[in-house]
Amino acid sequence: QEDLFKNVVSHAKEYGFIFPSSEIYDGLSAVYDYAQNGVELKKNIREYWWRAMVQMHENIVGLDAAILMHPTTWKASGHVDAFNDPLIDNKDSKKRYRADVLIEDYAEKLNLKAKKEIEKARERFGESFDEEQYKTTNPRVMEYLSKEREILERMGKSLGNGDLDDVKALIEELEIACPESGSRNWTDVKQFNLMFGTKLGASAENAMDLYLRPETAQGIFVNFLNVQKTGRMKIPFGIAQTGKAFRNEIVARQFIFRMREFEQMEMQFFVKPGEEMKWYEYWKTTRLNWHLSLGLGKQNYRFHDHEKLAHYANAAADIEFNFPFGFKELEGIHSRTDFDLKAHEQYSGKKLQYFDNETNSNYVPYVVETSVGLDRMFLAVFATSLKEDTLEDGSTRTVLALPSVLAPTKAAVLPLVKKDGLPEVAQSIIDDLKWDFNVAYDEKDAVGRRYRRQDALGTPFCITVDHQTLEDKTVTIRHRDSMKQDRVAISELRNIINEEVSV
Ligand code: ATP
Repeated sequence: QEDLFKNVVSHAKEYGFIFPSSEIYDGLSAVYDYAQNGVELKKNIREYWWRAMVQMHENIVGLDAAILMHPTTWKASGHVDAFNDPLIDNKDSKKRYRADVLIEDYAEKLNLKAKKEIEKARERFGESFDEEQYKTTNPRVMEYLSKEREILERMGKSLGNGDLDDVKALIEELEIACPESGSRNWTDVKQFNLMFGTKLGASAENAMDLYLRPETAQGIFVNFLNVQKTGRMKIPFGIAQTGKAFRNEIVARQFIFRMREFEQMEMQFFVKPGEEMKWYEYWKTTRLNWHLSLGLGKQNYRFHDHEKLAHYANAAADIEFNFPFGFKELEGIHSRTDFDLKAHEQYSGKKLQYFDNETNSNYVPYVVETSVGLDRMFLAVFATSLKEDTLEDGSTRTVLALPSVLAPTKAAVLPLVKKDGLPEVAQSIIDDLKWDFNVAYDEKDAVGRRYRRQDALGTPFCITVDHQTLEDKTVTIRHRDSMKQDRVAISELRNIINEEVSV
């Protein structure tokens, strides 16, 4: 699995999808740039979401609120006081860890110890070795495994209760269980606010402290009444937005899964108080179906219903995806009650209420939110699509079997040879198709190698122009996944491609 993940990262770089940010200066941790193909794939995912949410729902409209907002926004939303991660420093190594990740690492080490014992036993007993039996009878292995479980459970509780002394005690206990892991010189556990600060204004004394938004949702809440009134929206209705968010994540690993600058696709759905659970269930189902429509495999998704709820929620669930490093959160669906709108009313002194014509009364709506990370979507789609195929003749090929609707380039047009007027015909095909699709031209190397290159880029079709084309205006069209080739008229190309790549 680790190898698979390494492949994903190197493929993304080699084929122009994702580069580390400012790479010539050795990069910036957990910040990435989307390259020529990545930017197309990312845009297509964003559009696929926008179409499903805004275009397909008459009662959902879009918004593009600014990244910088009045600082009181973040006081009202609770982010100034409560958007924290627990952090711990090691005085000897001068390294800083997110407490939960450190504990997970230790737990993993216990797990590895158990695995080593099992491997040793396997070598000793050879063929007759029964792993399951050994796991449940060998006291050392049992101790490692049960300790690992117990520790993770206690960690979940302590962190959930915000009991940082317990967390520290847990880390010290783990040091004793895994003494080879380093020193025992931990500082107290501290809360670390994840918001990036910046300043507005020219002179130091007049400057105003601002934050880069850690979520896009608040831009929607503060505009709720503006949109409702000018759009003459009737409850229930939604406001959708995609855009950058920033979090000063302490642990930055797992590539674009956890970034310091990332993009969210969020929708806030405003409902009548008391109807929120109905809509919460509706959006859970609707969002899961959206994911399933991409065809990455039903088995790769699962819901995780939250037991411990954030301060603003009365129900919450994650849609988890089977990433190369296991099931992790891809999207959150939260019933946020009237927490945010009420808080903004309180801090701004302005009413944020909906006037219900039917009952002639005002109320603060409840909100159901769907929030998905665009970069996490990218990783889910990209990693799952990357495959190594073994062909009939025993050779292998790398194929990025992206859902065609998301592919950066829909077709590549390839002249069989660089002469006899074939490049010109290829170019004229491109000139015609480019009004509707992203198409590419490639004349370098043997045609077989060009096919492989397009496979690795995820291009659903290769169109080859040969000498017969000059006679009868037909070309070969090759399908990425089946590698099947058909002879078709140039005039049919648009329809064939369209059928495959449209939703
Ligand atoms: P996590 O528990 O993984 O930190 P979260 O619960 O804090 O995520 P939310 O605040 O619910 O995440 O944000 C909604 C979505 O935004 C997440 O489901 C995820 O897809 C995305 N997201 C959040 N933080 C990051 C990040 N640092 N990098 C990339 N995407 C992120």
